[in-house]
Amino acid sequence: WYYMKVPTVAIVGRPNVGKSTIFNKLVGKKIAIIEDTPGVTRDRIYGTVNYKNYKFHLIDTGGIDVSEEDFNNEIIIQANIAIEEADIIVFVVNGLEELNQNDFIIRDILMKSGKKVLVAVNKLDNPKREENIYNYYELGFEDVLPISGEHSLGLSDLLDKITENFTENNMEEEKDDRIKFCLIGRPNVGKSSLVNALLNEEKVIVSPIAGTTRDAIDTEFTYNQKKYVAIDTAGIRKSGKIFERIEKYSVLRSMKAIERSDVCLLVINAEEGIIEHDKHIASYALEEGKPIIIVVNKWDTVNDKNDISTFTKLVRSEFKFLSFAPITFVSALTKKRIFTIMPEIDKVYINSQKEIKTSTLNDVIRDAVLLKAPPSYKGKRLKISFAQQTGTTPPKFTLFVNSNKLIHFSYERYLENKLRENFDLEGTPIILEYKNKND
Ligand code: GDP
Ligand code: GDP
Repeated sequence: WYYMKVPTVAIVGRPNVGKSTIFNKLVGKKIAIIEDTPGVTRDRIYGTVNYKNYKFHLIDTGGIDVSEEDFNNEIIIQANIAIEEADIIVFVVNGLEELNQNDFIIRDILMKSGKKVLVAVNKLDNPKREENIYNYYELGFEDVLPISGEHSLGLSDLLDKITENFTENNMEEEKDDRIKFCLIGRPNVGKSSLVNALLNEEKVIVSPIAGTTRDAIDTEFTYNQKKYVAIDTAGIRKSGKIFERIEKYSVLRSMKAIERSDVCLLVINAEEGIIEHDKHIASYALEEGKPIIIVVNKWDTVNDKNDISTFTKLVRSEFKFLSFAPITFVSALTKKRIFTIMPEIDKVYINSQKEIKTSTLNDVIRDAVLLKAPPSYKGKRLKISFAQQTGTTPPKFTLFVNSNKLIHFSYERYLENKLRENFDLEGTPIILEYKNKND
């Protein structure tokens, strides 16, 4: 009962058969990070697919880089991760080549798992090539579908097949008045310690039942008469699984937790500072449009408390794409300032649901334009005729303009800042969308 089970589908196959091409065609994301920050530009391996009245999670196991490990057979590990994580497996083969030994290695692993496997014969870019699919029945799976990831052919047939036995009410968000938050961050930053410290807070009353999923431990509790769920991804360490040590695999867990959270706590270790991996994890939370709080833990290890301003500057410069996120400095060990976390969660959650009156919104936009006119491009200037909030969690604003080709990144930034100056949107990403007035 803890959370509605959204099915997971994994894509497997040997390198270069087109797995990531197919993944990118099927998965959408809420927010594109434009910032050119190293560590933020990387392959995505996990996302959500909405198709007709169905919803499922998709994993591109090909993006799970295992090269640092001393396992020479990447595809074997990837296939095993697919079996571990997924309800349905899409086995991609290259329709322009004969099946090779690696295809058969994967086949053997998948066959043994007893999971539902769909064979997608990719790179069949024109209908004639579809005749080739008969060779692939040799793999021994019942469903063989011709597709072209690059040209988007056969993808709806594939999606129909994937969702064939899914229940439609999948789509309906289960009514849940609990505020769910996850703690994300690298191993050893103190996520589990923080959850424990939080649950020991005076005002926190832990419910007797804790839920467990494959990926995390959920703890329900009450604070100020409201219900919350803490999702601890570090809480479950499945020992003995060979892929446990793979970094991308722990990222996958974080992504799953982010997806079902209302608020994300990005935990950073004050002792060690910020590394690429921290940004990497943070960027997933942003792409999902989730409110974010930056929690700097292990603050007890920092001797000079004046360092708060120095560390704040460091966080701001390293996480430029999270300039809207509040920062809090705590110690799970000494419990110092742990009490600051719950109010921050409440605040950013409320902000993510904020609805702004159309008239007030338009006043702010009009004033912003009067104060600083949009730059002109080839003698033409952006004109904003009307603005309207068109979504929440995160707040989304649609601006009706003369031509959306005239929008400049820096002006978009300016408008976002003006909105944030006028409305308290601290902690929540916002989306600005432009529509041509005459379309
Ligand atoms: P992955 O290693 O399995 O993730 O494969 P990629 O998605 O990176 O694709 C490998 C190569 O195959 C790239 O050059 C793609 O452009 C190409 N490719 C992917 N899908 C198709 C397709 O449907 N038709 C053709 N002709 N090429 C494709
Ligand atoms: P996780 O992997 O992110 O869940 O991290 P853990 O909660 O398991 O903590 C990793 C290590 O850091 C443990 O040895 C903790 O005792 C230690 N630790 C956690 N929080 C703090 C803190 O605030 N200060 C100090 N000095 N150590 C901490």
